[in-house]
Amino acid sequence: VVDEEDAEEAALAKMLAAYRGVWVFVEQTEGEPATVSWELMGVGAQLAKEINTELCAIVIGHGVEHLCREAFSYGATKAYLMDQEVFRFYRTEPYLDACCHLIDKYKPEIILMGATGMGRDLAGAVATRVKTGLTADCTGLDVDDKRNLRQTRPAFGGNIMATIMCDKFRPQMATVRPHVMPMSEKKDGAAGEIVREQIALNEADILTKVIEIIRDTKVGIDIAGAEFIVSGGRGMMGPENFAMLQELADELGGVVGASRSAVDAGWMPHDRQVGQTGKTVRPKIYIACGISGAIQHLVGMQDSDVVIAINRDKDAPIFEVATYGIVGDLFQIVPAITNRLREL
Ligand code: FAD
Repeated sequence: VVDEEDAEEAALAKMLAAYRGVWVFVEQTEGEPATVSWELMGVGAQLAKEINTELCAIVIGHGVEHLCREAFSYGATKAYLMDQEVFRFYRTEPYLDACCHLIDKYKPEIILMGATGMGRDLAGAVATRVKTGLTADCTGLDVDDKRNLRQTRPAFGGNIMATIMCDKFRPQMATVRPHVMPMSEKKDGAAGEIVREQIALNEADILTKVIEIIRDTKVGIDIAGAEFIVSGGRGMMGPENFAMLQELADELGGVVGASRSAVDAGWMPHDRQVGQTGKTVRPKIYIACGISGAIQHLVGMQDSDVVIAINRDKDAPIFEVATYGIVGDLFQIVPAITNRLREL
């Protein structure tokens, strides 16, 4: 039995040792990169440094070689490029084949993708095909002394933070939502190696066809990229009171966000929701008005540079993450702040 166990352990160690490199999937639409890819380069570089391996980009598309150079400027030293007409538009099947071809041939240790519509779709499909684990929506990533990726994410409805490891399989795969990781520093003109790969794919065998692209012309408010956010919760008491928050947001040049309670009550649209099932935000200033600070809300805003909480309950959990806390009635405090800003 001991011999058998030893042999199993040796086989596992050999398999683990065959995988090296941290890869970041560079998500793009018609050659335009998604910024989450560059955010992932920052954490990817950190992981690569810790386990003394290289940071590589996966670039799949058509006419996308420029993204390899952009990946170098964000810290990658190598880019695997699969540039073919069949990859012009994102479709699960060809992108899955492309990723798996690269993984089979070059054996990465860690793969990071954005937790976007595309990244969530592709990462799940890849993990299934290569028979490895995937941790979705990670909020923290680091490595232990055995090169295992420690993937932290909220679990059980956000009531605990779980650290998940995939210690017997490779590659280790994780997705991270946009704005969870800080943007990595750009160094224009940095050099790297482009590894070109091609696969034979027959368009007729691909089940999904792109017939037409119809762009969404609705110009939504992007709370995820805003520098100043004034958010309201159940304490706002009704939709009409959000006008007060809009006035304050206008003075700051910011936008209005909301807790899930306010969204569920129909006071604000879902695209304004901050938190685990809404957007992750990282503004310079986040003002929480009448929001208690449930963990599911906190995971979406706790990395803001400055958090100002206004709540009449001095024990509200929001004060635990607040840089400045104001205990009192928001209906008096918010207009007072707005008026003071107008005087400046
Ligand atoms: P409450 O918890 O009811 O808090 C209202 C606060 O307003 C209280 O602290 C009260 O003291 C204060 N208040 C009332 N009147 C005033 C006043 N006049 N002046 C000052 N303060 C006042 N929530 C999110 O926000 N985002 C998410 O993405 C999210 N995802 C979730 C996912 C799951 C799986 C689950 C289970 C829950 C999720 N939730 C999410 C819900 C979350 O658990 C909380 O229920 C929600 O955040 C509470 O919203 P709130 O703080 O606005 O309301």
